Amino acid sequence: MPTMVQKRDYYEVLGVARNAGERDIAEAYRTLALKYHPDRNPDDDDAIARFKEAAEAFEVLSSEEKRARYDRFGHAGLEGAGGSHFHDVGDIFDAFGDIFGDLFGSRRRAYRASKGADLRCQVTLDLLEAAHGASKVVQFRRHHRCDTCQGTGAKPGTRPEPCSYCGGAGRVVQSRGILAVQTSCPSCKGSGTVVREPCAACRGNGFVPKSVSRKVEIPAGVDDHNQVRLAGEGEPSPNGGPPGDVYVMIRVREHPLFHREGQHLICQVPLSYSQAVLGAQIEVPTLDGRHELEIAPGTQPGDVMTLRGKGMPDPHHRARGDLLVQFQVEVPKVLGEEHEELLRKLAELEHVQVSSKRKSFFEKLKEYFQPG
Ligand SMILES: [Zn+2]
Ligand SMILES: [Zn+2]
Repeated sequence: MPTMVQKRDYYEVLGVARNAGERDIAEAYRTLALKYHPDRNPDDDDAIARFKEAAEAFEVLSSEEKRARYDRFGHAGLEGAGGSHFHDVGDIFDAFGDIFGDLFGSRRRAYRASKGADLRCQVTLDLLEAAHGASKVVQFRRHHRCDTCQGTGAKPGTRPEPCSYCGGAGRVVQSRGILAVQTSCPSCKGSGTVVREPCAACRGNGFVPKSVSRKVEIPAGVDDHNQVRLAGEGEPSPNGGPPGDVYVMIRVREHPLFHREGQHLICQVPLSYSQAVLGAQIEVPTLDGRHELEIAPGTQPGDVMTLRGKGMPDPHHRARGDLLVQFQVEVPKVLGEEHEELLRKLAELEHVQVSSKRKSFFEKLKEYFQPG
């Protein structure tokens, strides 16, 4: 199948002039739709691609607003503007099924079931759980078929009746100029039936909300705002399709010792002045427990030692991150007498000016009131 890397010009696709009128465009599309119709070209991927291409071109050029935007800005003008993207042939039958009468034959009645809505919930982990993986239980609310009315929405003893607006078809044809577009019936919202006496348990919805608990396996290495999908645990489909999914949003709490940067961890470790100057053997925390670390003499404040592979694991099983140990040199605020004496000797040795020995507040107070 030739892949269409570059989108063709819509006028070129339909083979009409840029100033072609509504009728010419509709006639050109009809001719192409017949030629490339999937029923006439079974298993021909190229024909299906042409069929879709023609439908997309027709969808744009048959709408005054979209055509004007396309004329001014080309394909880029239509991006994100409610789109003209048919996912499959069924979408085309749904949209244009009634335009050309029996052109699409019985195919337009093939009403495709849609997937149920997705749901979201949240789970909070601490850093160690995020690092090692965890098994958690999440709770969320989703709709289940109402047991009272068996999902019909009608009060027990009554039945839903065919919708009089659409004659029970669920779809209506609306005319727009020379075009007729098939849409979901506004009265019965596509179900083809109406409920005269609603079921009290579900207020006629046929579904009732229920709280559901599910176990979710969190892979090792997840980060804040990652999501885990629980396939098929979302809302049921309104028309017999597959259920939606549940997306579990992961929140990871801040850890008092480790700051996380992606897969790397940063840990601030305090050193005393003498440890920094003379070097030392210290213990630092890691995700797997204590780790002995040899500090080189002359370590400076802010120096970093990297412990390779001691960071967070990767949920996609790539290499683990690193643990970066950053040293802070602590300046004591309170000193013992001997400690102070030694430091003053050190200051003399270094020939630096330090403030004279502090007198206590009460001594100074006495001098203040009794001078001389
Ligand atoms: Zn009910
Ligand atoms: Zn209806």
